[in-house]
Amino acid sequence: MTRFFTQNTTIMYEFREEHQMLRESLRQFLSKEVLPRADQWEKNKECPKELFRKMGEQGYIGVNYPVELGGSGMDFWAAVIVMAELSYANIGGFTGSFYAHTYLPLPLINALGNEKQKECWLKPALQGKKIAGLGITEPNAGSDVAGIQTTAEDKGDYYLVNGSKTFITNGTIGDFVVLVTRTGPKHDMSLLLVDLETEGISRSKIDDKLGWHTSDTSQLFFDNVKVPKKNLLGEAHKGFYYLMNNIQEERVLMAVMSTYTAKYAYDKAVIYAKERQAFGQTLSHLQVIRHKIADMAIKLEACEAMTFRAVGDFIANGAKATNRVTKAKAYTADVCMEIINESIQIHGGVGYTEGYGVARAWRDARLFSIGAGSSEIMKEIIGKFEIDNIIHDKLFISSRKGAVDLQA
Ligand SMILES: Cc1cc2nc3c(=O)[nH]c(=O)nc-3n(C[C@H](O)[C@H](O)[C@H](O)COP(=O)(O)OP(=O)(O)OC[C@H]3O[C@@H](n4cnc5c(N)ncnc54)[C@H](O)[C@@H]3O)c2cc1C
Repeated sequence: MTRFFTQNTTIMYEFREEHQMLRESLRQFLSKEVLPRADQWEKNKECPKELFRKMGEQGYIGVNYPVELGGSGMDFWAAVIVMAELSYANIGGFTGSFYAHTYLPLPLINALGNEKQKECWLKPALQGKKIAGLGITEPNAGSDVAGIQTTAEDKGDYYLVNGSKTFITNGTIGDFVVLVTRTGPKHDMSLLLVDLETEGISRSKIDDKLGWHTSDTSQLFFDNVKVPKKNLLGEAHKGFYYLMNNIQEERVLMAVMSTYTAKYAYDKAVIYAKERQAFGQTLSHLQVIRHKIADMAIKLEACEAMTFRAVGDFIANGAKATNRVTKAKAYTADVCMEIINESIQIHGGVGYTEGYGVARAWRDARLFSIGAGSSEIMKEIIGKFEIDNIIHDKLFISSRKGAVDLQA
């Protein structure tokens, strides 16, 4: 008897020895190359460009990209580990930049690019020699992607691009973007590979963000920019659909980022509660603190379970994993903030300062319910899906008050 629409996902999670080795080596790399400098980068609001190159050299950018392109050819769990470890290191800004390079434009090039495009743009990006971004958002179109106004006019052997983009991660330090352009009405869009040094492009850094200080965020302006036809990614006019097809990967990895930023804040709270003395005992002896920790632990477990389930669904069903991915993205973004908030509370006054890391986690994590599709948009998608997928003729519990259809 089918009562409600369900999707089959047997895989919960699958970490093997190769994944554990990746995790260990990345932890060592982060301890040596990143953690000692992270506070300085944060203070300077600096996105360390050379870190892309170092991570590329070590193979961390290309973990799940094909070997023939210079990747390691591992599965998607490897990407999950990379994003989890970066998030747990509490370098939210750089993690955002890395994510906006590795998992926003590059999967599009991998899926749609021809051999020459992969050689020219994807290979150096996987090596960290070129930094990339994805240009969708505009001053008048964020959630409403179909509202973008940046045009690409077909001029025979090139496109003439005019318009502007905003909030583009890696826009200032980056070498190129996958640019979403309008090539007709409504959903008629095309993706272009655009070298950011091209004549007619100007860039301006957005420097007054709440968080993500070690990430580079920019406005991009296009004034009669000539983009060669060979830089068209995939087919013309299909850009919107390509984006929608790619979006589950971006969202499920943001759920990973939320979950492991929350785990960082949770672990910090437990450590602090066991050390801090108050009224002749450690905080961890106070029942109210233990209950806070219990609540955080329960929420964290739920985040991890939901995220792993969504990853399993994404691996098995790709773009069709929308429902579980969207739920994980929305849930973990909100719950991550709740966990960090409690962690700050347990830290007391020092939690409100820079020294203990949780303040940074709080400002960085605030983006998770805005970026990669806001929580309101996620709930629209989930609500529609849930309502549309109830199988009406086999309802066990009918919509009539109190009526139960036992024949269904
Ligand atoms: C640090 C940072 C980095 C970013 N990096 C990138 C990047 O690399 N590339 C890129 O293209 N973009 C990037 N963005 C932009 C980001 O994707 C957008 O901010 C996001 O999609 C929301 O769009 P918006 O800001 O225009 O808000 P709006 O779309 O104007 O929404 C404002 C509010 O209204 C709500 N809302 C809007 N429509 C609906 C609806 N139909 N139903 C219910 N509520 C609704 C939203 O949820 C939100 O709460 C970045 C943003 C930030 C802050």
